[in-house]
Amino acid sequence: MSKWCPICEEARPESNVFCSECTRRLLAKEPSKEEKSEMNKKKESEAKEAKKEISRLVMEILQLNDKLKTANDEIQRLRNNKKKQYKGEKEDYWPIIIISVLLLSTVILVVTNILL
Ligand SMILES: [Zn+2]
Repeated sequence: MSKWCPICEEARPESNVFCSECTRRLLAKEPSKEEKSEMNKKKESEAKEAKKEISRLVMEILQLNDKLKTANDEIQRLRNNKKKQYKGEKEDYWPIIIISVLLLSTVILVVTNILL
């Protein structure tokens, strides 16, 4: 009498606990035809469930990818706004600096004129 691997569907030596090909735990004996068809049904329904789960996970990944893309777009938009703001601030400083220098030189001129 030999043991049976339910995955490889082949007989294995009695002394083995696990299948030497696929490492699955061996059954005590080869199952009957009815048991085999029952096992196949179970395998098929497990495969169906696994497929469903995979499609669900793929959908989830696609949705997360969309969210990530939206978030990245938003980050890019905010960065661009900040850059524009920074540029705008930089450009806005120049007239103030020029006016300050002009005012200061005028004040100095006026003061030196009064004093001299
Ligand atoms: Zn096996």
